[in-house]
Amino acid sequence: MPIELRIDHQCPQCGAPAVLEESDRLYRCGFCKVASYLLPRDVARYVLPHRAPADRDLTYVPYWRFKGTIFTCGTEGVRHRFADESHCAVDDPAFPPSLGLRSQALRLKFVTPATTGCFLEPIGDQRQALAFFTRRQASRQPPPIYLQTRVGESLSLIYAPVYQRGRRLYDGVLNRPLAHNAQAPPPETHPGGPAGDHLRFIPALCPSCGRDLEGRRDTLVLTCRHCDRLWRATSKGLEEIHTAEVPMPGAADVYLPFWRIRARVEGIPLASFADLARLANLPTVPKADWESRRFHFWAPAFKVRPATLLVLARTLTLAQPAVAPLEKLPRQQLLAVTLPVAEAVDSLKVVLAVVARPPRRYHPRLAAVRIRPRSAMLAFVPFTIAPHEYLQPGLKLAVNKNQLALAGNL
Ligand SMILES: [Zn+2]
Ligand SMILES: [Zn+2]
Repeated sequence: MPIELRIDHQCPQCGAPAVLEESDRLYRCGFCKVASYLLPRDVARYVLPHRAPADRDLTYVPYWRFKGTIFTCGTEGVRHRFADESHCAVDDPAFPPSLGLRSQALRLKFVTPATTGCFLEPIGDQRQALAFFTRRQASRQPPPIYLQTRVGESLSLIYAPVYQRGRRLYDGVLNRPLAHNAQAPPPETHPGGPAGDHLRFIPALCPSCGRDLEGRRDTLVLTCRHCDRLWRATSKGLEEIHTAEVPMPGAADVYLPFWRIRARVEGIPLASFADLARLANLPTVPKADWESRRFHFWAPAFKVRPATLLVLARTLTLAQPAVAPLEKLPRQQLLAVTLPVAEAVDSLKVVLAVVARPPRRYHPRLAAVRIRPRSAMLAFVPFTIAPHEYLQPGLKLAVNKNQLALAGNL
């Protein structure tokens, strides 16, 4: 089961203390009531709390930490496994290869320019770190592996404090020697410096009308119910996003967000609806206009258990529902967008794997397939709420409410 890191935080407005979870984005201060939206510049950076003696200079050792689902496809079809792992981001045997369980047991702090100490430079970038975790996971499965990808919930850097006493290195969390033979590396071995500025808080106010924006604490899209607009936080600030809906007959209780992605697929013909019908071996007679109907991938825009992610993505992708621009926000609940489009794009090859029939014919070809996203749109699909399920009769979809448990409560 996933464990959310907990982070000690102070309200950027009034300084009141708060404890955040790592997925938190929209934070409303319990004291001054001001809402702000948290925006890491690239990856979130945290430090483990230290108990080092005051006269020691701290060095912070970076660890990449990945939490998410790794999908693989081999001779036995598509498999998935949840991963919550860390590995040292500098190459030096003096430092432990992973953080172990410490990051889960302790309350972390954000790295801010005020955090004192020397921060060692991590080797590689986010892409390389993610590739490492994916490879490591796939290496635990018997070959052949035709496809390995991850749908990440988070990649972060966690810095562990160490300090030197004599020639020995000490763990600044436990205040104990790191390992009986851990010698301090010469200071010039690793580049490092003071903590950078990697975190921004922007006011959660509608740029159009100035009212408070709404959303669940982990949402990626903020709603203004006053002027009916949706906003996404980017490095340049809040940006309005235009969305679509899937018109369906009948009443709706809740709208679930999906990414509708147009992509160029190389290695397997998949540009039109007719290509999809052939790939999925649909038992219907192709219609004349299928060759000219453009194909789109569909994937959930919310965190959901891996098996449900695949069912939803497969059903919507096979249905290729028509969309209409969403002129006015529905009064019904909108499920929070919690899965960024980049993560949805990462899942597309797995979607391809569960759509293709027969699998034996297509799965070995997946290694050579490239999927290049061209454009994406957020589209809301109406569902009704039954006691235990969300239902979409038009798509013959029933999603057990417990399956959405990972996404929190509506
Ligand atoms: Zn406050
Ligand atoms: Zn507004």
